[in-house]
Parts: sequence; C-alpha cells; structure tokens
Amino acid sequence: MNYDAAIETALSRLHEEGRYRTFIDVERRCGAFPRAIWRHPDGSEREITVWCGNDYLGMGQHPDVLAAMHEALDATGAGSGGTRNISGTTAYHKRLEAEIADLHGKEAALVFTSAYIANDATLSTLPRLLDGLIIYSDALNHASMIEGIRRNGGHKRVFRHNDVGHLRELLAADDPAAPKLIAFESVYSMDGDFGPIAEICDLAEEFGALTYMDEVHAVGMYGPRGGGVAEREGLMDRIDIINGTLAKAYGVMGGYIAARANLCDAIRSYAPGFIFTTSLPPAVAAGAAASVRHLKTDQGLRDRQQEQARILKTRLKGLGLPIIDHGSHIVPVHVGDPVHCKAISDMLLEDFGIYVQPINFPTVPRGTERLRFTPSPVHEGPMVDKLVHALDALWSHCALNRAEMSA
Ligand SMILES: *Cc1c(COP(=O)(O)O)cnc(C)c1O
Repeated sequence: MNYDAAIETALSRLHEEGRYRTFIDVERRCGAFPRAIWRHPDGSEREITVWCGNDYLGMGQHPDVLAAMHEALDATGAGSGGTRNISGTTAYHKRLEAEIADLHGKEAALVFTSAYIANDATLSTLPRLLDGLIIYSDALNHASMIEGIRRNGGHKRVFRHNDVGHLRELLAADDPAAPKLIAFESVYSMDGDFGPIAEICDLAEEFGALTYMDEVHAVGMYGPRGGGVAEREGLMDRIDIINGTLAKAYGVMGGYIAARANLCDAIRSYAPGFIFTTSLPPAVAAGAAASVRHLKTDQGLRDRQQEQARILKTRLKGLGLPIIDHGSHIVPVHVGDPVHCKAISDMLLEDFGIYVQPINFPTVPRGTERLRFTPSPVHEGPMVDKLVHALDALWSHCALNRAEMSA
C-alpha cells in the first residue's frame, strides 16, 4: 500500500470539489471584541472585525468570567489532572453541573469536554441502556448527533427537516412497544430557524417517546434566564434530555446534558466519551459557571443581541439582499454559488477588514451557499455601517441578484 499516495488522493479530491478548508489565522483582542488580529499569509498583521463568531454575547471577555478563571487557575493550576473518575472531579465541576441543572430545571446535569462529545457520547450510549431503542432524527441535525446515532448500530429513522407529519408517519409505522427517542434542535444554526418543539413533544407523548433536544445555539440567548427556546416557550419540563454548549453564547468551553438524575447517572456510568477522557480544567469549569450564572439575570445583553440582529436584517433587506430570516439571532445571506461566496468573503476580508467565513457544501446543500453573520451586543453602530456598505458595494461589483423586497 502506498500510504502517501492514498492520503494525497483524498486531499486532492477536496481541492477538486472546491471543499478544501483553509483556516484564517485570527487572534481576538480581549476587551476589544469583536476586533481581532488577522495574520495575513504574507506575514503582515491586520486589524479585522469578526462577523462570524459564535461567542454570541461577547461573554469570552466578560469580567466575571475572566475573574473566575484567573482565580481558579491561580488556586488549582492548569489542568484537572485526571478523568472524572480518577482524581479529576473538583468542586468547580460540581458547581458547574449544579448551575446547569438549575438553569434547565432538571434534577441533574453532566458536563463533557464539548457539546459535540456530549451529543455523540449520550446518543451512542442510550441504545445500550434501552434495548431495541429507535432514534428518530431530524434530517438537518448537527454532525455530532448524526455520528452518535450512527455509531451504535441501533435503529435510526430520519424525518424531513421540521416535518412533524413525516415524523408522525415514522412513529406510527414502528412497534408501539419499542422504546423511542426523538432527537432534534431548537435553533438550526445554518438557517437560524426554530424546531417545532411543542408539536414534537405532543408526538413524543402520544407515542411514548423520549425527547432529546440540542439547544447549543440557544442557551444563554433565549428564555428569561438563558435556558434556551424551551424555557422561552415554557416547554423545558417536556424535554427529557437537553444538550447545550458552554463554548458559544457562554463564551468558554465545554458541553453538557441536563436530564433526570438517573439518566445522568447512567450516562456517567456507561458512556466511554464521558469516562475515558480528562475532565475540563477547573479554570474552564469556573469560567463557564460564572458565565451561566451571569446570564441568568442579564436580560439586557439578550435584548441587545436581538436588537442588533433586527437592525442588521432590516438594513440588508432594505438593500434587497437575499437574507434568510426566521426571527432568530442568526443572519444568513444567501449567495447560492460556492465561487461567488468564497470571492465575496475574500474581498470583505482583504479590502474591508471584515471577516465572515463562506459556508459551502457539505455544511449546507449545494446551491444554498451563504455568508452567515452573527451580530452581537459588541458589534457597534459604525461596524454595522461598514458591513452594510461593503456588502452593498460587493453585491453590485459581483452583479449578484437582489430580492424583490423592501424593508
Ligand atoms: C457547535 C455545535 C455543537 C458542538 O458544540 P461544541 O461545544 O462546540 O462541541 C453541537 N450542536 C450544534 C447544533 C452545534 O452547532
């Protein structure tokens, strides 16, 4: 076997399909978010504004979060020193889990090193706990759920995105006695649309299924205490397992599930992705807990984020740009062509110091390539002005379509 040739073939396949990923080297400036330093391939350093980050509320530079992290770092050192089972459980981890359980009104919570791992580990372990489990999965679920569901070799049914009629058909076609679980998201990150939570809960009740919901793009941002869309809609108690991240709106790192105590206990005891890996550094757990705690009361930050999203959408619509608006905080602008999408993104960065990563296949279907903006409370008026003017100019420059709509 010529290993090098095989690896090179795999890489050139990506180049040919235009799917090869190049990472932009950005270093955020604490205290100056969303400003960052871009290390240009030519070796120079340039100041840019990040418009595609997932630190949705700027919590990554919040004084409460930084103070908690400094304190824990000085008190306990860099890493946790072990897995949760072998010397790696600290008061910081336990406090964080208590903070999260309280956030979602659940008996317990379990923290993982990321929400990716939380999804993958939980969904791949549930079939070992519930013999014959059938998992019903929304077609647009995140890769971390798909991987978890696929790996267990259990039964899987994929329902068309947000299509509760299709979900009902699939549920009705299976053995009424079989254990079932419906896995979906509250906010889908690429279109910024919402899952039909109440309808899915109704179906789960009717067919005796458990519900598993990824609130990664909602926690911290929706609901009066940041508990997510389920909190906003008064549905938290109808979701059996809530998954969230500490790395997006909470601005730190880590992921979790919140659920009944016995379920968390079983995942804690059975999931390899929880057991056989070093726990989060105490400083990270402390920062995440401070962030969750802070956002339980800072409704002003949530309001400002929604306001920023509304302003940006209104202004882009006013220019006739084809934005996808489902009323969430995410502002996708449809380009519909991978070459244009990349070109606009390159020009925004090079000529305007505006960083927005092009979103191409396979992250989104071909023909729906887009730029995905994430306005936040730290994106100030002049930054918005600059972005709007730059997009207006580039849309004309590239002779792209404008929608037949006005603000
Ligand atoms: C980002 C993301 C995750 C993974 O979260 P991490 O904490 O970054 O691993 C899970 N689900 C969805 C929908 C996401 O967008």
